[in-house]
Amino acid sequence: MTMRPNDSGAAMADQQAADDVDRRQFLKVLGVTGVGTAALTGCSTDRVAKLVPYMVQDENQVPGIPTVYASTCTECATGCGVHVITREGRAIKLEGNPEHPVNAGTLCSRGQAGLQALYNPDRIGAPLAKNAAGGFDEITWEDAIARLAARLGQAGNRVAAINGYGPSTFSQLLEGMVGQLGGTTVSWQPFAREAESRANQRTFGRDALPAYDFGAARYIVSFGADFLETWGPTMEQSRGFAASHGFNDGTMARHVYVGPRMNLTGANADEWLDVAAGSEVYVALLLARAAAAAKGSPLAGDLARWTAAEVSARTGIDAARLTRIANEFAAATPSIAVAGGIAAQHRGAIDLCHAVNLANVAAGNLGQTVNFGLGSTPTAGYGAVQGLFARMERGEVAVAIVHEANPLYAMPKSGNFQA
Ligand code: SF4
Repeated sequence: MTMRPNDSGAAMADQQAADDVDRRQFLKVLGVTGVGTAALTGCSTDRVAKLVPYMVQDENQVPGIPTVYASTCTECATGCGVHVITREGRAIKLEGNPEHPVNAGTLCSRGQAGLQALYNPDRIGAPLAKNAAGGFDEITWEDAIARLAARLGQAGNRVAAINGYGPSTFSQLLEGMVGQLGGTTVSWQPFAREAESRANQRTFGRDALPAYDFGAARYIVSFGADFLETWGPTMEQSRGFAASHGFNDGTMARHVYVGPRMNLTGANADEWLDVAAGSEVYVALLLARAAAAAKGSPLAGDLARWTAAEVSARTGIDAARLTRIANEFAAATPSIAVAGGIAAQHRGAIDLCHAVNLANVAAGNLGQTVNFGLGSTPTAGYGAVQGLFARMERGEVAVAIVHEANPLYAMPKSGNFQA
């Protein structure tokens, strides 16, 4: 109870009565849930509708004893393993699964907050159908399934699906179903790392994303890739970074961040090169040149023009500082250079990622800290979704199913996607 000093005695009595009622309601709820389960909405007792004890006790639910289920976090595409702690049928806490190879028991703050999505009062709790006025009406599941089945029956093979976060069991089921109907499925995420996969196609001839071993690297240079917070499997990378950047046997890896914007990864760097957006590529070429010269790589001749003086003139960073960083990168074995995030979202992004690939090749990092075959398959990207939208405009798609993607919100206006 919170009262101000000048509140009247009557007001205090009213408040006391209200508190007593709340306390009684609270104890009543506790008493009933102790022997059964509660049909509560959210955490508030205001909207209690019904309290129904089990007629047949679920063997996995013991009142007062938490039941823990292993599951997967879907807050981002990393897919960390989680333990969902439940009490009386309700999830109450998420923890990292210590036996999961990606996160090994850790969870980021976004994963920890996953329960907020489960209990968010704005979460849609039933199928909705658009009405003539442009609003939505709640319909039953039976009605929704019947409507969808009828539409699919009429559409024939003119069916398409957009899959967001994946791969999941449901996304595979959806893709299989649409494929059986003769339709097409596009996997799409707003930050699909397209520039990286295109650059890998140019450098290595493979449209794939490698796995990066930050734990083994002795020198880390990130070009805009926020690998501790938003880029790649952040929990796995954070553990690797903590291992290599921690003080072990008298040494620790050094971390340089290159980019105009400070983020969590930049804030954890030993050194920050705040170059202008779009000029990161010159620093990457300097690293590649230094590594090629140090390791006797045949790339050295092609990269000869990217001297510290040339890169300094283009970036505004002191040439002596650039030379020191390039030489440190070239001398460290193994090192790692990564590009992504905001630095891979402009018209020079593929060139930057290609230059970073050259730096890794020249430094001998392939198979050491950069491992193809262990990474992920890139999603189709913006171009594929645009192709699908063009087909929809031509009337070639009668039913479009969107699963865990939000193109109306995330696509630029030029994407021309309309509900
Ligand atoms: S990185 Fe965070 S948000 Fe992404 S899957 Fe793991 S815990 Fe969830």
